[in-house]
Amino acid sequence: MSEICERLEAVRARIRAAESRFGRPEGSVQLLAVSKTKPDEAIRAAHACGQRAFGENYAQELADKAQRLADLDLEWHYIGPLQSNKTRLVAEHAHWMHSIDREKIARRLAAQRPAGMSPLQVCLQVNVSAEPQKAGVLPEALPALAEAVAGIDGLVLRGLMTIPARSEDFDRQRAAFARLRHCLEDLQTRGFTGLDTLSMGMTGDLEAAIAEGATLVRVGTAIFGPREAPRP
Ligand SMILES: *Cc1c(COP(=O)(O)O)cnc(C)c1O
Repeated sequence: MSEICERLEAVRARIRAAESRFGRPEGSVQLLAVSKTKPDEAIRAAHACGQRAFGENYAQELADKAQRLADLDLEWHYIGPLQSNKTRLVAEHAHWMHSIDREKIARRLAAQRPAGMSPLQVCLQVNVSAEPQKAGVLPEALPALAEAVAGIDGLVLRGLMTIPARSEDFDRQRAAFARLRHCLEDLQTRGFTGLDTLSMGMTGDLEAAIAEGATLVRVGTAIFGPREAPRP
């Protein structure tokens, strides 16, 4: 078994243990393998170990990898910040987009989605910790953004995503994820009944996210090892 396969199995075991510990049905939490900055061979190794869904943070890198790995049956998720001059790359190559926080980006993605492709599945990114420098819509502005995005043809609004302020404390981690769950429940009571996705939890806090209802955890380091320092 490759080292990546062993790490992947260990992450799957963590997810199963958290499902069982927090009363979540087995198999109710999907694993997104975050492959940003990692080479094609790492993705091929994870694919050989049964992984299909991969997450990328840089639009050009997503497009390049999707084209080079077109021989594999992969599902691509865009999870990074997106400038409006890069939306076409995501519209043409991603199956999912997790980090919408402005209507303008959503409109461009829909307009640039190629005719033959299935609708783009989207999540709205919420700034649950209300950190001023952080991406994401503030909870109070969320209903209006959801209303706007839900009305755009070519996109399917599936749920919410967050990257909370980093904390080592389990109860603090849980509190932040609970805020995202409350945001989703609030939208559901407002009539957004098709929302089924809570994209939250990473290598350091996936158990807390699963405790609070995550349906998809985004895990990089625990599968692929540490990354180089972020790009400038
Ligand atoms: C990099 C990244 C991850 C993965 O983080 P790890 O701590 O390496 O598991 C998850 N979500 C987003 C949005 C990321 O940018």
